[in-house]
Amino acid sequence: MRGSSPPQNPRRPLVREFGGGRVVLVQADITTLDVDAIVNAANSSLAGGGGVDGAIHRAGGPEIMRELNERYSGCPTGSAVITGGGRLPAKAVIHAVGPRWRDGEHSEPDLLASAYRRAFALAREQGHATVAAPSISTGIYGFPIERGAPIALGVARDALLEPVTTITEITFALFSPGDVQLFADALAEL
Ligand code: ADP
Repeated sequence: MRGSSPPQNPRRPLVREFGGGRVVLVQADITTLDVDAIVNAANSSLAGGGGVDGAIHRAGGPEIMRELNERYSGCPTGSAVITGGGRLPAKAVIHAVGPRWRDGEHSEPDLLASAYRRAFALAREQGHATVAAPSISTGIYGFPIERGAPIALGVARDALLEPVTTITEITFALFSPGDVQLFADALAEL
């Protein structure tokens, strides 16, 4: 009908295409997503924890922690490591370590971008096509999400625009309707 707009449905995926791929925003529990790889918001000891990290280890089972312990002894902030997906629908989990927010003057934005960049690089190196990520650092680590969203989306766009990449879709799995809205605003402004 003229003059009317569709009702806002926060569960509707929001999509933007970049090169041959696309960024998708959904409100979802990342552990349920049937994608090639999911990104975990891990800590540098890779010891598991609360938030999305705890949810991924609970849903994926002990195999993921076993592999972390066997293959890695921690991971620096701004970097990432990869394991299998255990019992998750995803084939792989990329454990990315974002920064703890202090005051914004301790390279937090650069470290957040670096964590996403390394995560998407690992996905590409493993030949994955579909990747899902949470909003790293914006929970327990306190990074303001209105500053984190454009960083996350900018790195995702750049990963899709790489001249050679296997990645065709990067989904941000956001936990609340408010987070989806903030990411949607940032996606529109990219
Ligand atoms: P960090 O320590 O990096 O801040 P958190 O896990 O505390 O990591 O939070 C990162 C984001 O993940 C927050 O926005 C939080 O609401 C969200 N989150 C928590 N559990 C899940 C989940 N199962 N799926 C997707 N996002 C989640």
